Amino acid sequence: MDTHYPTKRPTDAEFLTGEAPEPFPPELTNVPWIDIHNHAHTLSWNEREQFALSGCQGMVMMAAAYYWTPYKPVAPEDVRYLWDDALNRLPQIRRSHVFDAKLGVGIHTGARVENYEELLDVLPDYCALDEVAAVGEIGITASQHVSAWPLEDQKEVMRRQMEVAADHGLPAVVHTPPDLENVDIPYRKRGTIPGYELDMSLQQDPVLEAEDVKRAATELDVELAEEAGLDDDKLVLSHADRGIAPYVLENTDCYLSFTVSYPWLLGVTPRDVAEVVHEYGPERILVETDSAGILRSDVFSFKRTIFELYRMGLDVDTIRQVVYENPRQVLGA
Ligand SMILES: [Zn+2]
Repeated sequence: MDTHYPTKRPTDAEFLTGEAPEPFPPELTNVPWIDIHNHAHTLSWNEREQFALSGCQGMVMMAAAYYWTPYKPVAPEDVRYLWDDALNRLPQIRRSHVFDAKLGVGIHTGARVENYEELLDVLPDYCALDEVAAVGEIGITASQHVSAWPLEDQKEVMRRQMEVAADHGLPAVVHTPPDLENVDIPYRKRGTIPGYELDMSLQQDPVLEAEDVKRAATELDVELAEEAGLDDDKLVLSHADRGIAPYVLENTDCYLSFTVSYPWLLGVTPRDVAEVVHEYGPERILVETDSAGILRSDVFSFKRTIFELYRMGLDVDTIRQVVYENPRQVLGA
């Protein structure tokens, strides 16, 4: 470096040796992105505006949000209300914000739903709507809130929903159980997990026990999709982490989606995304916020992830594939 500034005293530049670092490519600020899994209809107007301000072009808002239902065990009307409420509000969300918002509709297995057959009967009618872009979120859940849902029943409700997805050419967005072992949730003598409006003392005993619960649930999801005739490339496995990546990317053709908006709970950061892309390539990797009104989450984490992936060595085209082209492909958009 041989830069001299007309400053009265020498600046850092006087002491630098070697090449100047490459400047950041300005197009990094304009990479479009699609959030394939969130619950943004449960956020505030301001937060939905943040999606648009940080470059979000499209999102799929999962109307399957069992946490907000007032009664337990959950009745079919409770779930139906969540679907209808999201559907009812969608036009105004679209008029208010510039991204393309669509819905995911499905029976979440995080709390047992009584008489779920009633929902399976009407699910195809919802899936026929233009507003519905995915069946979700669904997925085998290891332990439920308030009322346990036996595994055999969960498998049935999963398989049937995936059949509906296959019939309508829709992807299924499937949560995988969090691996909370690796996360250091700060100890509190009083109250619940900080940042989570869910009474964990009401979690029921697990209905799925395995050494690696995330892996066992994910394998079941993949098996059930196959039984339902839903192609692997229509299956988005959410809440990815580095531990599940080898199974999914070496043994299936499914997509793997990393939740980046609440690392304090899932322990997942842009570094995990970068490592997996470095090892396996960007073809089947997605990023999602899963942001929801029930927990502390950060809408801007998506845009920050774009910047972080660049800093960690991914080029702009690779990043664009992960955050935009891949979700577009999944959604057939
Ligand atoms: Zn979710």
